[in-house]
Parts: sequence; C-alpha cells; structure tokens
Amino acid sequence: MNTAIKNSDHTSFYKNVLGFFDKAGMLTKYPKGLLNQIRETNSVYRIIFPIRTTGKNYEVIEAFRAEHSHHKLPVKGGIRYSLSVNQDEVMALAALMTFKCAVVDVPFGGAKGGIRIDPKKYSEAQLERITRRYTAELIKKNFIGPAIDVPAPDYGTGAREMAWIADTYQQFHPEQIDAAGCVTGKPISQGGVRGRTEATGRGVFFAAREVVSIAEDMKKIGLTTGLDGKKVIVQGLGNVGYHAAKFLQNSGALIVGIAEYEGAIYNKNGLDVDSVFQHRKNRNTILNFKGAKNIKPTEKALELNCDILIPAALENQIHADNANKIKAKIIVEAANGPLTPEAEEILLKKNVLIIPDLYANAGGVTVSYFEWLKNLSHVRFGRMEKRYEEATYRTLVNTMEELSGKSLNESQKKTLINGPSEIDLVNSGLEETMVTAYHEIRAIMKRSKRVETLRTASYISAINKIAESYLALGIFP
Ligand code: GLU
Repeated sequence: MNTAIKNSDHTSFYKNVLGFFDKAGMLTKYPKGLLNQIRETNSVYRIIFPIRTTGKNYEVIEAFRAEHSHHKLPVKGGIRYSLSVNQDEVMALAALMTFKCAVVDVPFGGAKGGIRIDPKKYSEAQLERITRRYTAELIKKNFIGPAIDVPAPDYGTGAREMAWIADTYQQFHPEQIDAAGCVTGKPISQGGVRGRTEATGRGVFFAAREVVSIAEDMKKIGLTTGLDGKKVIVQGLGNVGYHAAKFLQNSGALIVGIAEYEGAIYNKNGLDVDSVFQHRKNRNTILNFKGAKNIKPTEKALELNCDILIPAALENQIHADNANKIKAKIIVEAANGPLTPEAEEILLKKNVLIIPDLYANAGGVTVSYFEWLKNLSHVRFGRMEKRYEEATYRTLVNTMEELSGKSLNESQKKTLINGPSEIDLVNSGLEETMVTAYHEIRAIMKRSKRVETLRTASYISAINKIAESYLALGIFP
C-alpha cells in the first residue's frame, strides 16, 4: 500500500487548505464567525510513546490524531504511517476530510491520524505493537469509537493495521455491541465490506469517466468525450493509483506513464497495469519494464505528454517550479493536496481542468461509510433481499416469456434474474455518490462566474451543507 513518493515542498499544507477554504467562503452568504467555526480544527491530540527495539533499547514514537469538525459525529478519516507525518499535515488532512465528507453527503465530521514512522523499517510484530499502543492511547482520551471517531487506512496502512485497531478496541470494550464500527477498511473476516480496498481508485475512475463524458467541458480543453484512447499518467502505484489505473485501462484508456519513488516508466502505446505491478513486486523497482522508457528523476514523469494526469501519492507534488511544464489537459487529484495553490494558479492559466481531491478521492470514505453502516446493522448488504429479488425477477421473466411466446437465452436470463450481492450494492452506491456529487459541484461552478474552479465549487458545496447544519441548531442566528 505504501507508494513512498517524497513530499517535495515545504509550504504549510494546512495553510494551503485554509487558503482554498477562504477563497470559497468569501463567495458564500455566511457571517465570518460561522465561517471561522467551520474552518478551525476542533481538537488535536499529540502522543509520544516508546517501543522496545532491539535488546534493551527503546525508540520514541510520535503520533497524532486531529479532529477537524464535530458538526457531525462520528468524525472520520485515515491513519497514515510516514516520516512526513507532523501536526500541520494531519490538521490539513483532517480539514480535507470534513469538506470531502460534506461534498459526497457522507454524514461524518473530518479527522486524520498519523504515526511518524517509516513502516518499511519495522517488523510485522513491531508494527503490530505500535498500532495497538497507538489505539490504546486513542481509547484513553476518547479519540476513537463507533460514535466518536472512526479511523481508516491511509498512506502506509491497510486492512492489516485496521484489524489490529479493531481487535484492540474490542478488547477494551467487550460490552459494546457496535465495537466493530470503531474503524473501517478492515478485512472482510473482521467486519470489513467488499469493495473497500479498491474504493478510492474506483471512485477516481468514476470521477474521471464523468468528467470526460460532458461534451461542452471537453470542447473547452480540446478533448473528445469518453475514456477510450485517452492517455493517462499515474503517479503512485499504491492502492489508490493501482486501482484507478486498472479501472481506467479496463475502460479503454491508455496508461502511458507510471511513476514511483525509485523512477518512472513511459510507453506511448500504453502499459499493462497488472504486468507493471508484478514486475515491480518481483524486481523491487518499476524501472526496466519491457518496451517502456525509464524516466529519471521520477518527477519528470508528471511533465510528459498525456491527456489525464493522476497524482495518487502525497501532497505538494505539483508546485510553482514544475506546474508550467505540465502537459496534461485534465488533472484528477487522487491524492490529498497534490497541487499547491501556486501550481493551481499557473495551471488554470494554461486552461487545465482540475478535479479536486475533496471530490475526486472521496470514494474511499464513501465506502467506509457503507462499512460502518454494515457494522451497525450486523448484516451483510444483500443478505435479506438477494434471493427474494431473484424470485421476483424470475417470475417476471417467466411471465414475459409466456405472454410473448419467445424465450430468452441463458445469459440474458442470468443478467435479468441476478439479485444484488454486497459488492454490487457497494459499487452501485459508490457510483451514485460520485456521479451525483460531480454534477452538484459542476452546477455550483456554472451558476456563477465568480466560482472559477471546481475546487472552489466543492468547498462552497461543503460550506453550504455544514453551515446549514449549524443554522438548523439556531447556534448562529
Ligand atoms: N484515508 C482515506 C481518505 O483520505 C479514507 C478515509 C476513510 O475511509 O475514513 O479519504
């Protein structure tokens, strides 16, 4: 899961997020006090704890959990393991979570956690100890719980870490019947939901597909509609980048470039995503892939010829120094904060269509929401209705055949009769969410000339929804 592309910029990520927020806030009708309440981080917990390394030695570990907004509970957001973790970063990411959830109508506040470690430097047993200790610290201060704060995977973490978190929480709270909902992104056997692993990447794909389906918008940037034949470069072959690339490839896009921290590869005729993934796994490097050109340093890959660029690694990857060299016509922000505000200014002048993080990568938290619902209801999606619906459709098909005197072939019947399983329902809920939210933010942008970007439109959409939830309480008359 760890793509480990270096964060190349030193500007404050949190300040950047707030800057984007302020730009949008100015275009809303809400009083400054209310905007300030929506903008500020509600609480930050910094933790220091030791772990035993070798022999009698100890290492001090620094970790955080930031809860940005309690306007809805629980708050929600991943936990990342990376050396780039610091308070500024978790606060920025927690704020993005608040706005992301609002954009896609996921009824949570935003949060984010992080442990400042390079997970590759630790054994599995050490990682387990660090994760369990971190969870115990969160429990101590009431920073975790199915009704309070629900972590999930992020950069450098995955289902394994989530299983440790859930298990630790359940040991502390054996009386809580909903305890499994204290974290999402768990393995299926521990209460996870089918489709969560690929959800962020699938969401990025749905976003890209929707964007290129609108003829009016494509004409403005000189592209035809549809994904077929579109040239795509992906930065980061971790969980998000890999799945986004794979779904795009399956829909006819050409993945011409893939970048990782050790270097990048490019082939104008397209790279097979699974073969590249296997190649990297076997050889420990993405470089020297058959038929592809090696690109070094890896950042150069962002500047190569393509239609769609998908940064799917860390923040601040496209900045004032490289933005001018970007050739893509569309950027889909699969990572959180991959563009600095300066980069965005430059790219807008170049007429690049930017699909912002708080919408583009919201697929992960959307399916996390479905997992949390599953945990609270204690039943797999589709379990109650699958057979019932199949029986209804079968009767319908039989009646149609009888009345028309014609019969359908087996494959037609199978498609018509098939009742939905958990994965069908999860993917359908995700598709509905991503498509609806895109049209919502696009409409906000189209409504006013002052809303110049989809990012500003997304922040406005989020601010409107959060403000309304405060106003409904009469807190800010
Ligand atoms: N870490 C993911 C994000 O940044 C997922 C968060 C979640 O599922 O709660 O959106």
